[in-house]
Amino acid sequence: MNKSIEQIMQEALKEIKAATDRKTLEAISIRYLGRKGIITHFLRNISSLPKEQRPAAGKKANQAKQTLEKAIAQAVENFKRQDRIEDGGIDVSLPGRPSLPGSLHPITQVTNEICDIFKHLGFDVAEGPEVETDYYNFEALNFPKDHPARDMQDTFFVSDTIVLRTHTSPLQIRTMEKYAPPLRIIMPGKVFRCDSDLTHTPMFNQVEGLLVDENVSFGDLKGILTVFVHQMFDPQTSLRFRPSFFPFTEPSAEVDILCVICRGKGCRVCSQTGWLEILGSGMVHPALYENVGYEAGRYTGFAFGMGVERIAMLKFGIDDIRKFFENDMRFLWQF
Ligand SMILES: [Zn+2]
Repeated sequence: MNKSIEQIMQEALKEIKAATDRKTLEAISIRYLGRKGIITHFLRNISSLPKEQRPAAGKKANQAKQTLEKAIAQAVENFKRQDRIEDGGIDVSLPGRPSLPGSLHPITQVTNEICDIFKHLGFDVAEGPEVETDYYNFEALNFPKDHPARDMQDTFFVSDTIVLRTHTSPLQIRTMEKYAPPLRIIMPGKVFRCDSDLTHTPMFNQVEGLLVDENVSFGDLKGILTVFVHQMFDPQTSLRFRPSFFPFTEPSAEVDILCVICRGKGCRVCSQTGWLEILGSGMVHPALYENVGYEAGRYTGFAFGMGVERIAMLKFGIDDIRKFFENDMRFLWQF
């Protein structure tokens, strides 16, 4: 017994490492740890050592035995795993793939943000059907049949009298039919128009607002929308109200904000005008009150509507609306 237990162990470990199959490992195990194995033999012979050397030698030999047993077991396990992979089976011993935590889509985030601002101003949230009747989408909103204003919206028709709603405005009628003033509602939802380019998609999201009460003036409209813009963008953002036309409001105004990119100097985003259109608004047309049966001349109110994608594009500096719907995770993970 010339070699030390240490040397024997190192040699054995080398052999285990070099083993290319389970049969070889078995042979190594027998040679070192078997009944007539080298380590076993070494342990038996400890009793022949001088008494004072026995405890230390015994400890070392037992440690060597445990180390080898462990190394062999590990090597056998590795071969087993390899066999499973080669069989095309699932390697259940591999660590699992962590599941990615989800997050809200940027459009959902912006919709929630818009609704939250109005909720703090006392508005309730209302929702309604995406497939609408011609009556709610056009007629009751003061778009008579064959009225040229219908051409302003490229409508998807389901049938002669059923459409995919082109705006969330039908909810103004649906809500007024159900409830008497005072009304303060905000109406988020998907709308559909036959249109597709850098800034238009056939489906997009709108948030519509309606406030009806006694003695509501255009000043109230300006006040509420100014508070909204200042909270949504920044408190220094300038606004302007530009005369416009919508069949269901009179007078009507488009609201522009000072370009958030160039601060009014003129850039590509604002088409060198220094202003960005963000929403349409106006005082509710008296014909709508008539259509829902409100007492004539008693109430006034205002309505407004905005495209959520447009607001999100300005807020995040995105130049192509289609990015929101391509589901590219590299894009979506940024929000
Ligand atoms: Zn600009």
